[in-house]
Amino acid sequence: MNGSPAGVVVVGAGLGGIRVAESLRSNDYRGPITLIGAEAHPPYDRPPLSKSVLLGKDDRVDLKPADYFSDSSVTLRIGERVCEISPADHTVTVQRLDDEAIRETIAYESLVLATGLVPRALPGTDGVAGVHVLRTIDDALALRAEMGQASRAVVVGAGFIGCEVAASMIRSGLAVTLIEPAPSPLAAALGTGIGDLITRMHVANGVDVRTGVGVEEVVSDGAKVTGVRLADGTEVAADIVVVGIGSTPVTDYLDGSGIELAPRESGGGIACDQHGQTSVPDVYALGDVANWRTEEGGTRRVEHWTHTVEQATVVAHRIAQTDAMIPAAPPYFWSDQYDLKIQVLGRPEATDDLHLVDDDGTKFLAYYSRDGVLTGVVGAGKVGAVMKTRPKLLTPTPIAELLG
Ligand SMILES: Cc1cc2nc3c(=O)[nH]c(=O)nc-3n(C[C@H](O)[C@H](O)[C@H](O)COP(=O)(O)OP(=O)(O)OC[C@H]3O[C@@H](n4cnc5c(N)ncnc54)[C@H](O)[C@@H]3O)c2cc1C
Repeated sequence: MNGSPAGVVVVGAGLGGIRVAESLRSNDYRGPITLIGAEAHPPYDRPPLSKSVLLGKDDRVDLKPADYFSDSSVTLRIGERVCEISPADHTVTVQRLDDEAIRETIAYESLVLATGLVPRALPGTDGVAGVHVLRTIDDALALRAEMGQASRAVVVGAGFIGCEVAASMIRSGLAVTLIEPAPSPLAAALGTGIGDLITRMHVANGVDVRTGVGVEEVVSDGAKVTGVRLADGTEVAADIVVVGIGSTPVTDYLDGSGIELAPRESGGGIACDQHGQTSVPDVYALGDVANWRTEEGGTRRVEHWTHTVEQATVVAHRIAQTDAMIPAAPPYFWSDQYDLKIQVLGRPEATDDLHLVDDDGTKFLAYYSRDGVLTGVVGAGKVGAVMKTRPKLLTPTPIAELLG
């Protein structure tokens, strides 16, 4: 043991990590807080990475000013990775990223795990220059630097991040092809009805959208990417390939800890109750890596900003043993593409009934229902109309009430 303080130790200095530290302090938690982050940067915000950072409008997107940590007595240890957890001893082991031989053991009273995700790679692309994923600010700055030298880009995967990257790249003057094996972008999350409107938006902005076809192979000249070959045999030339095919929860450091993981078929990640408590006493998890039990008795792992912030508040209350009311709110996330804010409120599912109630060819508003009850709202450029439905998503509301 290296005599470091106990109190709350937070693994992962991203959004969830900093928000739990902040919320503990605002709940009058006076004990030591240690925030450990594997990146070389203080906590920063990820949503701008695919938007303003790629567009060259932002270089830094820090979540806190530099003096926050000393002012709030939060010890920030960056460039360090937690490699082992021993719940029996109430300790974590950290290793320095610049010298993995340097290790230190730190004691905790409460431990919070907020280690996020790592993007999935396309097989056979390891070491091929010009192939990118996007999760960190270093990823974004490296991609942006290459965009300056490139003219043709392929984006593989039309989920939210793939769509945002395609929008930022075409706005930066590149020719962009967006490839998605599903029938439309965002189809798994929102269904093909909305997916087709997303296709329309990208096509209107000049993106070559290829749906219903996957990537067979990334083609290179041995060192640098030159394009992709699709499953239908066509080849698309590219100087840059961005891969946005989903991510995997970061849980490798839990091996041997006894902390339970959720089954892969229910989303994987760290299994938690509805307050973020893991299977081990005094250990909590939140954010993209955490799979929380829901009030309805199911489980859910969510990869969105607002959800992470809400979970950080719940965990901080739990640790600080304060039972302040956390106001109920329907799940919410957003995505910025071109000049439109796309917002999703509630829990719409691809298989729900879709009711497109407003569509001027660019902006649109749609409700989702299941068994005649409103489940969610999706809008593009309809901020006021989306937010107006919040109260209706807190109690079962017949869809007829909104359509009438
Ligand atoms: C490009 C991009 C755009 C996005 N846009 C939107 C958006 O428009 N709207 C929206 O709702 N959401 C968006 N999101 C999602 C949102 O940013 C995430 O939901 C949020 O960042 C999750 O926070 P987190 O703390 O769980 O994980 P993260 O923010 O990923 O933080 C986890 C941190 O833990 C560190 N870590 C991992 N392992 C260890 C270890 N063993 N030891 C120490 N540290 C470790 C990681 O290095 C990382 O810094 C976007 C995400 C990305 C990547």
